[in-house]
Amino acid sequence: MKRREFMQRTAGGVLATTPLAAATSSAAESPVPAKDPPQNTLDLTTLPNFCAHEHWGSIPAIGMSPEGFRADTETGAVPSRPVSVWDLVLDPYFGGFLAQAGTDPHQLATQAGAPDFISWWQKKPEEALAQLRAPLQNQALTGAFQCLRKGIAYLHGPDIGAFELEAWREADTAVANAYSDIFSWYSNAMEKIHFSGLIRPVHPEFYVREGTAASAKAELGFTHTIMRIDPLLHLWEKKSPRRDGLAKIAGVEPRDAQSWRNFITAILDLAAAHGTTGIKQLQAYSRPLRFEHRPDREIVWSGALSDEQVIAHQDWIVHECCKQANDRGWVHQIHVGTHNLTQSSPLPLQILAKRYPKMNIVMLHAWPFLSECGWLAKQYPNMYIDTCWQAILNPDFFRRALQEWLGYIPAHKLMCSHDATSIEMAAGSSLINREILSEILDQHALRIGIPPNDLQHLALSFLHTNATNLYPLSQTK
Ligand SMILES: [Zn+2]
Repeated sequence: MKRREFMQRTAGGVLATTPLAAATSSAAESPVPAKDPPQNTLDLTTLPNFCAHEHWGSIPAIGMSPEGFRADTETGAVPSRPVSVWDLVLDPYFGGFLAQAGTDPHQLATQAGAPDFISWWQKKPEEALAQLRAPLQNQALTGAFQCLRKGIAYLHGPDIGAFELEAWREADTAVANAYSDIFSWYSNAMEKIHFSGLIRPVHPEFYVREGTAASAKAELGFTHTIMRIDPLLHLWEKKSPRRDGLAKIAGVEPRDAQSWRNFITAILDLAAAHGTTGIKQLQAYSRPLRFEHRPDREIVWSGALSDEQVIAHQDWIVHECCKQANDRGWVHQIHVGTHNLTQSSPLPLQILAKRYPKMNIVMLHAWPFLSECGWLAKQYPNMYIDTCWQAILNPDFFRRALQEWLGYIPAHKLMCSHDATSIEMAAGSSLINREILSEILDQHALRIGIPPNDLQHLALSFLHTNATNLYPLSQTK
């Protein structure tokens, strides 16, 4: 049945009592609405969108520290050189997808006699773009490229999707100018794209290391954090410079069960003092998500551990972090799926959900375990889903996820962040999410026979309110 036929058939029913029908039909002239409403009447473009899981700053121009991306280990990390549009495009995500497809921009640059791709681009832009044009065109329909393209066009103007030199040069200049004052840029761009807040997962070192006092203050003016617990799961090796560094920060050397508990308390206290809103892990990329509860006596604390001993050690630490997060009423963001697919099912997370009922678990990405994540979110009061990264992988994953979940899980369980490496990529993801959300809610409105705008409050929940209700933001600074 087409939309028009539906409207006509239901005109005497639900729609006749709505303001929409009252405004468009006159009972004296015709029993049907005089005019169909537009196909897509739900406009979500200006609703606030809370970004609860982002990696803005994981770009080459900001670079790495020994522990990970510098943006995640140092408060107020600013670029160490002018930022190019290629820093946004050749990021760990899209750059990684190019590498998986067999393209190595760095190698192309060195073959052409340049030290790296950006130097090549600066010296011979036409030649550099020409070499990447075909590989980029091969990825033109992918979510990552579409998010970058849409975000760059929305925030800076030029459309890089035609792969024309002039547009790339304009984008390059605009990006360099914007990032010359990176935190002002983030603040301005957030306003432009209607982002209502930002949470970034950071390493424990972030809380004690800063670029400059001024840059740290500028970043913390709008940035909330959650703390990554992954670094704590690799401190068992006999020689571990990171353990030594963190022990110094915590003032406790982790050697046995009691000192490990004290060590975790001290690190989480430090994060709490800096206004964190929870913890985060990405163990799904390297091991199954079955974290068994282990008694202290089962654990070997350091040395040459067997694979089983490493798993037991990690299980113990994850449970101790969860116990403390539970006591503090914190959120635990957990990566699910997307990598390591035979082992990254979220179903074993029930163990944590049951044992720590005051710790809200947010399953990130969910794809391809859409049914499993939906079931968990429906089954457990403390399990939620954030669709971040779906649009960047493939906008149709987000569409499919909404189709799977909206008729099944309670509306307060769903959030739509972006998991982007730049604010430009996040902006593109947000634009795509809003379009698809509008389309799917419209379908539901049509099915149940109410005006699409009556579902606007649901869109606001998904984009903004669910996250601000879930994360204890009032404790942040
Ligand atoms: Zn992430």
